[in-house]
Amino acid sequence: MVVSADNVKVRVRFAPSPTGPLHIGGARSALFNYLFAKKYGGNFVVRIEDTDLERSSRESEENILASLRWLGITWDEGIGVGGAYEPYRQTERLDTYQRFAAQLLAEGKAYYCYCTEEELEAERQMLIKQGETPRYLGKCRELSTKEREKLQAEGRRPTIRFRVPDNHLVILNDLVRGEVTFDTGTMGDYVIVKSDGIPVYNFACVIDDTLMEISHVIRGEEHLSNTPRQLLIYDALGLTRPQFAHVSLILGKDRSKMSKRHGATSVVAYQEAGYLPEALINFLALLGWSPPGEEEILSLPEMVQYFSLDRVAKNPAVFDIDKLKWINGCYIRQTSLDRLTELAIPFLQKAGIFGPELTAEERAWTRLLMEATQDRLSCLSEVVEHAQGLIGDAVTPENEEAALVLQEEQVPLVIRHFKQQLESLEVDKASLDVPQAKAMLKKITKETKLGGRKVFMPLRVCLTGKMHGPELYHIIPLLGISGCLARLNKLV
Ligand code: GLU
Repeated sequence: MVVSADNVKVRVRFAPSPTGPLHIGGARSALFNYLFAKKYGGNFVVRIEDTDLERSSRESEENILASLRWLGITWDEGIGVGGAYEPYRQTERLDTYQRFAAQLLAEGKAYYCYCTEEELEAERQMLIKQGETPRYLGKCRELSTKEREKLQAEGRRPTIRFRVPDNHLVILNDLVRGEVTFDTGTMGDYVIVKSDGIPVYNFACVIDDTLMEISHVIRGEEHLSNTPRQLLIYDALGLTRPQFAHVSLILGKDRSKMSKRHGATSVVAYQEAGYLPEALINFLALLGWSPPGEEEILSLPEMVQYFSLDRVAKNPAVFDIDKLKWINGCYIRQTSLDRLTELAIPFLQKAGIFGPELTAEERAWTRLLMEATQDRLSCLSEVVEHAQGLIGDAVTPENEEAALVLQEEQVPLVIRHFKQQLESLEVDKASLDVPQAKAMLKKITKETKLGGRKVFMPLRVCLTGKMHGPELYHIIPLLGISGCLARLNKLV
């Protein structure tokens, strides 16, 4: 058995509520748990916390699991995989929670509350008006059996509330945040089981983490306020607390909490925008964790090797999209052309450039396009613009500077030579390859006795309208002989 530094068998979990797609913050929590488990030879569990029946859906669950798989975060145990602690979906474990709720009721550590929504809202408003923290003041705390029966007879269906010890300090020794103290003074007795018998997250989570023998709870700081509520339940049931590590919030560049305003928040949006999973994973790892060395581009096994909670920062992490783009660009450059081609095809299909089935020629063209653009892409979706720039016969100079290039005196000569070269090559567009294009350009500079820039710049503007872009020896075969001739004839 491999154990962590604390001599416990590591079992960690990612426990998403399926109320929407997998978010960046959730993905980071999943990743940190995964890295921690792998580092210590432990088990990583995925559990679905779907007790919020109104907001949970199977569609969201599927999306979350698909995004985890896409990111390459695999789990040893849990939903879809099985394991010794089944079931891993909370709505399939309702009997278990009832048992523990019954224990708390029997020991007087929880009680039935018959207050209606309206009564609770009135209490809330009253406290707000008095400038106090809204909370439950304990109206049903000491109901007699008779009073309970009466309320029951009125048809009221009770919730179960946890009896919060008065003026009690809850102390958490967090592995990231150190000692954190919570005062129960303004907490109020909270609901652990709703009136329909369904437990709330703060209760179900404690039971599951206990029964699934979770050793470390690694999650986002936004859950820190839930932690005292969970710790009180551990203590009341006499259960051993796991260790907690609350990872800092993810902020936008303006240092407000990361939200849609800062760009996409779901993993699938980054997938659709053309980020590579290994790049996103690498970026997520750096949101709050810093590797020991200088190197920031790390593979998943390297992250496992270097990961430790000691290097997880307390300070908020800032989501810097430019850094993600930079990391993605690094991975794009490391990726084989075959894989890049396969990854790019769906983007080209979606843009209507290709149909559902590609011909061998289209596939070869895409491969060449990827070769031409690999060094310039920060995102796969950018390939669409490059491809669109190669479609059609008409080209207009992108700006005045480009237009001026075409006025240079050597231009007619360069174009004449280029056309001659093209016309002498009686081959179709597929067979005009990069070496041929290179040879052609070399020949033109030699024959015209002109410096490279005087040849290449006008040809580039003629063929693309732009001053910058992929190498000419890529553009020429991508346009093909007929494409090049058509563009030259339209422009000059
Ligand atoms: N179900 C909670 C959520 O998705 C999990 C919190 C936890 O990790 O305890 O936010």
